[in-house]
Amino acid sequence: MSMESVPLQRRASDAHLDLSSEERYRLLAENASDIVYQTNGLIIQWISPSVTQWLGWKPHELIGAPALSLLAPDQDLAWVESNRDQLLAGQSVVQEMELIHRDGSKRWFEGRARPMMREGDSVEGFMVGLHDIHEQRLSRRALLLSEKRYRSAMQHAGVGMALMNPHFDIINVNEALCEFVGRDEDELIGGSWSVVTNADDLIVEAELLDRISKGELDTFRRVQRFRDAAGNMLYGDVTVAAARDDDGSVVLLTKQVVDITEQTTSRRRLADLAARDPLTSLSNRNTVMQAVERALDSSRGDAGRVGVLFADLDNFKLINETLGHIAGDELLKAVAERFTTYLGRDAIVGRFGGDEFVIVAPQPADEALLTYYAHLMTQSLKDDFVIAGRRVVMTTSVGAALARPGSTATGLLQDADVALSEAKRDGKARWRIFDLSMADAAMARLETEGALRDAIDNDEFIVHYQPVHQLSDSSRIGFEALVRWNHPQQGLLSPGAFLGVAEDSSLITVIGRKVLGQVCRDIAGNPGMTEHVAVNVSAIELAQTDWLDATVDTIVDSGIDPTRLIIELTETAVMSTRRSLQEDLARLRDLGIGIHVDDFGTGYSSISLLRDLPVTGIKLDRSFVSSLSDPDSASYALAEGLASLAFSIGLIGVAEGVETPVQSAFLRGMGWTHGQGYLFGKPAGLGDWIEIGA
Ligand code: C2E
Ligand code: CA
Ligand code: CA
Repeated sequence: MSMESVPLQRRASDAHLDLSSEERYRLLAENASDIVYQTNGLIIQWISPSVTQWLGWKPHELIGAPALSLLAPDQDLAWVESNRDQLLAGQSVVQEMELIHRDGSKRWFEGRARPMMREGDSVEGFMVGLHDIHEQRLSRRALLLSEKRYRSAMQHAGVGMALMNPHFDIINVNEALCEFVGRDEDELIGGSWSVVTNADDLIVEAELLDRISKGELDTFRRVQRFRDAAGNMLYGDVTVAAARDDDGSVVLLTKQVVDITEQTTSRRRLADLAARDPLTSLSNRNTVMQAVERALDSSRGDAGRVGVLFADLDNFKLINETLGHIAGDELLKAVAERFTTYLGRDAIVGRFGGDEFVIVAPQPADEALLTYYAHLMTQSLKDDFVIAGRRVVMTTSVGAALARPGSTATGLLQDADVALSEAKRDGKARWRIFDLSMADAAMARLETEGALRDAIDNDEFIVHYQPVHQLSDSSRIGFEALVRWNHPQQGLLSPGAFLGVAEDSSLITVIGRKVLGQVCRDIAGNPGMTEHVAVNVSAIELAQTDWLDATVDTIVDSGIDPTRLIIELTETAVMSTRRSLQEDLARLRDLGIGIHVDDFGTGYSSISLLRDLPVTGIKLDRSFVSSLSDPDSASYALAEGLASLAFSIGLIGVAEGVETPVQSAFLRGMGWTHGQGYLFGKPAGLGDWIEIGA
């Protein structure tokens, strides 16, 4: 066997093992710190002086002694024979062994032995190098020992634990961990974590483990998601720590998993509760506001990029009032679902309570995007809802706004709200995008509202009367009471200047009461006046639950004959109000009070309204009258049809806005019995019409 074929080991690899090199080798070994000795196979023939330093013996004390006498007793020496065989076969061997010091103490060495060859292939003896590994061996043993102890401690620990080898394979797990992930030991040991760990968390963990391998990290702790065998999501508080050997390479990793599923999910549930609207599960006000704030933060300096839409269902109150609150809730849920389906992919859909929904558009927003979203919102409600077994048509008004320089979340929502009011004012079921003129208008409305409150306190409202004439003989048979604001600076103001604000702020209720009171006093105070008086009542007033009682009280208290009064309601007012209206109106009619539907023909369910409500008359809207000149027009035909309808069901028909004798003649020909308009007289103080009594 040639030496080249022998796998030579570290420290002796430079020696060519013939006897001539032996001499050189000895010279080297004289100064080596490791122990080097030479045997003839059994007896030490030469040993380096360094043996004194390590084992206490002088070289001459050992030369001639059996090499085995260096070995500490009480160790398993099975290796001696097999190593010998290997050496005699011409191979090198490496062996850890415990040697005995002259003082009787023991020490661990790593021995590397090589056969020395004579001519031919015969083995002359062995050359052995001994390297001290005592400390290393002890710490490794300690490690093994601690691993052993660790295993038994771990097996009974209450928290989940696992041991991993440096390749992160699971080499041991305890019962608690098996229980946590609902798996058997066999399913885990030898396998990887991917079976039980969330894939995303695994990627992060792999990076951390890599850093441990590189020595950048010794331990890490993080919350990880696990899956049990049934697929349930679990949360674990995971700590991984590495045990290293002397040269720093990882020997073992421990993983501790504390089950925090319960706390985490209940905390999540709580967080969820705080963030969501319980009825619809949409984001609640808080969450939406935070989202808007974040969006504003992230777009600082680029004002137009954040956009919100504010939606308010049209006439939602009516659903609550007619079908009940449970049906109302059902509808809100259904609407929330539609909005989510149509917009929820990119936008945040939230509910602010009631029938108010807020959408935060994805960034960057611009007017076109808001328009698109507003369109989607109206579109999403196009199909009827079926609520409590009933078909319900629902529309929404939408106000949208883009952030202005310096906008806050509250400010932005306010802008959208202003645009929403504008959309509602425009006639509902439509959308508007905020612009600064709206802000000015909103400010003006606020100012008007303040002024109206003062006007109420200062009694600045007066009543004008406009005569109603019988068309057959032009005789005056009644008046319509029309409110005027006697503004201290601006003089007499028509309702058009303040009614909108009065209705929005519900101040109309107070104003209406004042008007009715004034009318009753006028009637009571002027016995010479025999005409009936029509009083306008708006939807806002009708919606007040105490409206009927207050009205009846005012009339009864004034002592007038109730048949002298007519209440004028618009179709839309009747349509948008609460259920008990039918009974309320019936009670008024039973008192002898007339009930006229105002602006007739401009609403949408005219005919059924007349059938369902205790109505005594209709007032043809003046838009019909002004276009009467063309007998071929649609409005001509409609005015004619409505007259015969009124006549056939015994209603009084009053045509409004009659300005010319021609119109009057046409109307009379169609069958309208009464007329009101500038032809007969403009609204004026009562004194212009009658001689004022005491
Ligand atoms: P309305 O009930 O349709 O009242 C008739 C309106 O038409 C009045 O306007 C009247 O001045 C106007 N008018 C009368 N004849 C003619 C005519 O020949 N040609 C033209 N172009 N217009 C004519 P006004 O007084 O400005 O009232 C506007 C609306 O304000 C009323 O419309 C009514 O809905 C509401 N309103 C007036 N007073 C009250 C009130 O006391 N309470 C409530 N809730 N609403 C009121
Ligand atoms: Ca009227
Ligand atoms: Ca009218």
